[in-house]
This record gives sequence, C-alpha cells and structure tokens, in this order.
Amino acid sequence: MSGLKDVLAKIELVMGDITEEETEAIVNAANSSLLGGGGVDGAIHRAGGPQILKECREIRNAQGECPPGYAVITSGGNLKAKYVIHTVGPIWQGGIAGEDRTLKNAYLNSLRLAAEHDIKTLAFPSISTGAYRFPVDRAASIAIETVAKFLKEDRTIGKVRFVLFDEETYGQYERAMLSL
Ligand code: ADP
Repeated sequence: MSGLKDVLAKIELVMGDITEEETEAIVNAANSSLLGGGGVDGAIHRAGGPQILKECREIRNAQGECPPGYAVITSGGNLKAKYVIHTVGPIWQGGIAGEDRTLKNAYLNSLRLAAEHDIKTLAFPSISTGAYRFPVDRAASIAIETVAKFLKEDRTIGKVRFVLFDEETYGQYERAMLSL
C-alpha cells in the first residue's frame, strides 16, 4: 500500500518468546475473562507472576469482561516490560462474523492504549492465530496494515516489534511486510 513504506522502519519482526521482551510494553492475546488461559496468555502470567492477575481481577471487578476487540492495561509484574496490554482477539468462525474488523480493533485499541500511556516501544504476539484459529496469512496482513497505518499518524510509539513463535508465522508476517 502506497505511503506506508516509510513506517516500515518502525516495525520489526523477530522469532522468540514475548515474555522475554525488553520493550516498554508487551501485548497479551488474552481471553474475555481476563483471568488467564493457555498459549501466550499462560506464558505471560507464569513469567510475570501473580501481580498481573491481581490487576486483571480488579479491572474485571470494576468493568466486567473485556469484549473481543477491546484492550486493558496492567503493570508488567516481574517481566522486564513495565506494562502488559491485554487484548482479546476474535475466535475464527469462518470469516462471516466480523472477525477481520474485530482483529483490527484489537490491534488499534492496544496501540491507542500504549500511546495514551506514553509507551514508546511495544511488542505484539500474533493475536488470534493460536487457540482462536484465525488463518495466519489473513491475520498477518491485518496486523501489519493496521500497525503501519496507526504509526503513520502517531507521534508517540517509535517501535513496534512482532514476536512470533514459529517459522510459519514469522514467514507470513514477513510476506505481509513485503506486500505492504
Ligand atoms: P489466541 O487465543 O489469541 O489464538 P494463542 O496464545 O493461542 O492466542 O496464540 C497466539 C500466538 O501466540 C500463536 O502464534 C502462538 O504460537 C503464539 N505464542 C504462544 N506462546 C508464545 C510466547 N511465549 N511468545 C510469543 N508468542 C507465543
């Protein structure tokens, strides 16, 4: 997409474990309960310790569940990251239930929350492409395009790193970067 190539320098792709990231904030692919789950969510709570879950419970008590497409923020507990942004991606239902838009909103609301907290460096996992079964090629295009468009307008966030857990996922995000 024309006009977005200049922001590509602010987007990095790495293969690895997001719990080890040293960005100011990492994003968690949470579920609506905010009370922890498997995959990257389980890994973040295990590595970050009980403080993150305590804050998630407080948010849940104050405002209820976090619907798909929305995001909330807690401290990073024992992680190197100062903050964790918990967002809820869509569960794939074949593509006819607004999944693309919900995934886009999950990225956008995470980015907005980061900018509001003056966060300059942020790491995302591949939201929804694990247990939620969103096709990774389609998710990668949405993720890269949404982040690139946001960074084109935003003046706060200087670096967004996608931390991808396997080669197949990394390859799809690389392809999405190249076809921007
Ligand atoms: P969702 O329920 O949103 O699909 P999952 O956690 O099941 O979330 O999977 C999302 C992606 O995160 C998958 O690509 C999965 O392989 C990856 N993942 C799992 N653990 C980690 C981790 N520690 N760091 C980065 N990515 C991870």
